[in-house]
Amino acid sequence: MCIIALVIHKISGKMTALYPWLMPTYHQIAQTFDEGLGHHAVLIKADSGLGVERLFNALAQKIMCVAQGDKPCGQCHSCHLMQAHSHPDYHELSPIDGKDIGVDQVRDINEMVAQHAQQNGNKVVYVQGAERLTEAAANALLKTLEEPRPNTYFLLQTDSSSSLLATIYSRCQVWNLSVPNEQMALDWLKSESAAENQEILTALAMNLGRPLLALETLQQGLIEQRKNFLRQFWVFYRRRSPLELLPLFDKERYVQQVDWILAFLSDCLKHRLEINSHRQVADLGRGIEQFSNEQTALGLLQAIKIMQKVRSDLLAINGVNVELMLLDGLTRLVTEVFETQ
Ligand SMILES: [Zn+2]
Repeated sequence: MCIIALVIHKISGKMTALYPWLMPTYHQIAQTFDEGLGHHAVLIKADSGLGVERLFNALAQKIMCVAQGDKPCGQCHSCHLMQAHSHPDYHELSPIDGKDIGVDQVRDINEMVAQHAQQNGNKVVYVQGAERLTEAAANALLKTLEEPRPNTYFLLQTDSSSSLLATIYSRCQVWNLSVPNEQMALDWLKSESAAENQEILTALAMNLGRPLLALETLQQGLIEQRKNFLRQFWVFYRRRSPLELLPLFDKERYVQQVDWILAFLSDCLKHRLEINSHRQVADLGRGIEQFSNEQTALGLLQAIKIMQKVRSDLLAINGVNVELMLLDGLTRLVTEVFETQ
């Protein structure tokens, strides 16, 4: 019993395991702190689906730990407070209920970091989704970043594709985190699932190389679902029958299904233009070849535009008239693309 308790204590004392693709960035940033050169504002731009919050968590723990070492010791008072999510000098700034980060939230944080650290150590502010700062909020944060306080560190996270106020950007040390190489992603997914290599590679391609989303795809059997759905898309194309495809859109998954159609169309366009890189629907190569041979590049481009419009409308309207929007998009595919070839 004692041994088991000891083992559990040791495990729970460690920080949450970092995904292998996060390791190099963690070590590089940690090293700057070990050398006393840690920047007061570290901005990490990362794609979604990489589990980057674990990297921020590990960095925050590392900066808070009073022991000197590459990783947080897991034993000091600071580490215990961080593990219990109750460190008084650790603060988070993030969108609440899907709303942008407002100026009042930033003012609260500014006030807290202006005070002396309660544990006499470092203070850390994790800004999650920095692209969601309103202009006023960004300006309020900028003032604090322009006048760095001793022992106060801002860790900012933003999506690769998002834009951030240039003035904030210029105050930060910027790190870019992109998708891992295929071998690393494949090795990790093999350790997490029982799927065959080919299936894993398909799941990775479906998710543009993002391992956590690929794992979800494997766990939910989405490869097969996508294949079946695109087969029905093909029937719709042959019969020009939007009303046949419409009922096959799933209430829980219709945006993803539109994404499947978009991926198919974009692979067809690439095939048409003889671009071989980054195919997302590699498992349906024959279908893509056949479909794109029956379309012009301009037609495919128009089809992609139509479905992109459907997608953005679906996201904007929050569930009202979903069927009408899908029907409208499918009908436009027939009249503006299929029947003009
Ligand atoms: Zn520690």
